[in-house]
Amino acid sequence: MWYNTGMKTIIEQIDNTQMNMEIIEKAGDILKEGGLVAFPTETVYGLGADALNEQAAKKIYAAKGRPSDNPLIVHIADMSALDRITEEMPKEAEKVAEAFWPGPLTMILKKSREVPAGTTGGLETVAVRMPDHVIAQEVIRAGGGYIAAPSANTSGRPSPTEARHVAADLNGKIDMILDGGAVEIGVESTILDMTVTPPMILRPGAVTKGMLEALIGEVAVDNTLTDPDSKKPPKAPGMKYRHYAPRAELVVVDGMMDAVVDEINRLVKEKTDAGCKVGVIGTQETVDRYRTGDIKCIGTRTDETTIACRLYGILREFDSDGVEFIYSEAFASDGIGSAVMNRLLKAAGHRVIYTSR
Ligand code: AMP
Ligand code: MG
Repeated sequence: MWYNTGMKTIIEQIDNTQMNMEIIEKAGDILKEGGLVAFPTETVYGLGADALNEQAAKKIYAAKGRPSDNPLIVHIADMSALDRITEEMPKEAEKVAEAFWPGPLTMILKKSREVPAGTTGGLETVAVRMPDHVIAQEVIRAGGGYIAAPSANTSGRPSPTEARHVAADLNGKIDMILDGGAVEIGVESTILDMTVTPPMILRPGAVTKGMLEALIGEVAVDNTLTDPDSKKPPKAPGMKYRHYAPRAELVVVDGMMDAVVDEINRLVKEKTDAGCKVGVIGTQETVDRYRTGDIKCIGTRTDETTIACRLYGILREFDSDGVEFIYSEAFASDGIGSAVMNRLLKAAGHRVIYTSR
């Protein structure tokens, strides 16, 4: 074979305004031969493999160290690709696809026999998404049209929002990384289960409950997502794992803004006095009010998409800085803030301090 399998990872820069089709073809050939290619999407970087080739999908689990009961999302680039992998497409699902594809939304649908059990973790359903990113779309087409692409990180680590994050986790374990620059959204897609009535959100993302309800009426939310003490497993198998986590112990501090700033300053002082290296996640609105520690500004509360975009990058920076504790402000629980809080709370292992004054 003309490309290396495994040991040496090819890294190619690719510009989405002037796409080099030779590179896309090379990526497509690797995928068609059962190899692994990481590529940018609008949400996070994905680790691609041919979703209809069980052996290829298995390689994803090995490279990421991903538990094998955590099914993969099949990425498509064209609506016509749906027929082959789904058993039926409910009317509502068609409406959702029309409104939000290509985009940061994954739908759970009944799978056809063509989708191997190795891709769906043995489930009778398949998760499908059409990403809104030209590089992703071209790679999917070049690779045969059906590409399983979980986040391109080591399982449990923060998802990659830049190609260097992918390289940090997977260099030497995958065939190719396409570097298309920083992603736009920064948190993974919304997952919507269309096999139940009413449809249910299994993972919050940039397509919010409000946006979906405006289109199709009532939408439920898997409440094991918001209740860390729930005895029931979440409906998306992957949501049960401690996820998105930095190496440091992360604690979220919630409450009125002034009280939160005071409490974080107090906690940082306590830990710094004890000789620990401490990180702080503040916002443009508060960052000047923190006194000591490794203080990082995550974005502005006036536009929470800025916060989503920086979240995983900041968690990785704290790892490189070698901090042992991180204190973060909490974020709004509606809109994209609910996706940010979902990931932040999981990264924190649900350690939250509520302050009141
Ligand atoms: P990732 O690819 O890393 O963004 O994770 C994919 C997420 O989709 C995980 O939380 C999976 O458990 C979930 N998922 C994939 N397929 C299904 C399915 N058929 N039913 C429910 N959840 C799924
Ligand atoms: Mg992931």
